[in-house]
Amino acid sequence: MIGKAACLSIARGLLRLGPLAISLRVRGAPRIDSINTSSLLDHLETLVSFDTRNGSGDEMICVRYLEETLNGFAPDQLHVAQVPRSRGKTDSGYVLAIWGKPETLLNVHIDTVPSGAGWTADPLDLQREADRVVGLGTSDIKGAAACILAALETVAPKNVAVLFSGDEEHGSEIMPAVIASDRLDGVKRAIVCEPTSCRVGRAHRGMLAISAGFSGPGGHSSLADVTARPLLDAARLAAKIGEYADAYLNFGAAPFKGLCVNIGEIESDGAYNVIPTQAKLWLSLRPPPGDDVGKREADIYALAGQAALDTIVAFEPFATKDMSKFADIFGETEIVDLPYWTEAAMLSQAGVNAVVYGPGNLEQAHKPNEYVEIEQLEVAAQRYAIALQGS
Ligand SMILES: [Zn+2]
Repeated sequence: MIGKAACLSIARGLLRLGPLAISLRVRGAPRIDSINTSSLLDHLETLVSFDTRNGSGDEMICVRYLEETLNGFAPDQLHVAQVPRSRGKTDSGYVLAIWGKPETLLNVHIDTVPSGAGWTADPLDLQREADRVVGLGTSDIKGAAACILAALETVAPKNVAVLFSGDEEHGSEIMPAVIASDRLDGVKRAIVCEPTSCRVGRAHRGMLAISAGFSGPGGHSSLADVTARPLLDAARLAAKIGEYADAYLNFGAAPFKGLCVNIGEIESDGAYNVIPTQAKLWLSLRPPPGDDVGKREADIYALAGQAALDTIVAFEPFATKDMSKFADIFGETEIVDLPYWTEAAMLSQAGVNAVVYGPGNLEQAHKPNEYVEIEQLEVAAQRYAIALQGS
């Protein structure tokens, strides 16, 4: 799950966050009563203990551990890959277990965000309380990984694949490698696990982030009228993009109106009496479901003229193709729109009918003393157990 902060106000409106109600008990779908909560929490304790903080942790150690664990459930195929990442990050990777001819995919990312300040205990040491467990990644989204492992202990997997993959929180460079491997061929539907408070997520925005650089010889500000002015060029581009954003304020349908254009930063080496030699503008926008990220990128590039442009991320929006294909798993579970981007968009673009579903609450993710309620873990483990048994 990325991009929470920018759209948290939307999240409050969309997810109706709050204490869990009895409505989480799913009507219209079977129950698996044999899931062992104690074992589930043991799995979670182990997973939390791996430092998989995106950018600084070691995601491959966790991948190797999960390879060993999944091997214990006798998959017909078990694929492990180490995948290089750009922008100076260490390798990450994935483990993919397959039973039979997989029509259903369960996917969980194993990386977390950095733990940041404010934790009152070691974020990698799971704290067990009466109705919740506290630790980095419990809510986003190692809790789901533990649910799947606990579910595998109670049901016989059939025509299903389980994918634990890295690098979701910043970059998403692993999922494209999985898709390119063709190992998901034949998969018709996917559950991408993210903290939805055990609701079924059906749609979210895309994400496009671009930097635009300008340069010149620099000099004394007395020569500003006859010298290239990179910072002014960047500011003028920011204003143009602002006008572009305003023209689309009513574009799309609620709750995804507008493009969420953000001018994030303009950096330069100038001063009030020094013409800068360079300036760089960072911006992002979040196209709504159904929109074309490539078209937005082309629009921004056209507005930017001669700037040196770099697309940092260009992620498509997401919408579930056919919700009815998940009825056997989710019954009458509440369906929601999501305020954050997920890798369901990549699977959907690859032709897979996907939903987003997981234990954990958006308000507990990406913050100190992150926790997940044990009841949510139990509910999610039941849904994953049904999915593991195949359609
Ligand atoms: Zn996540």
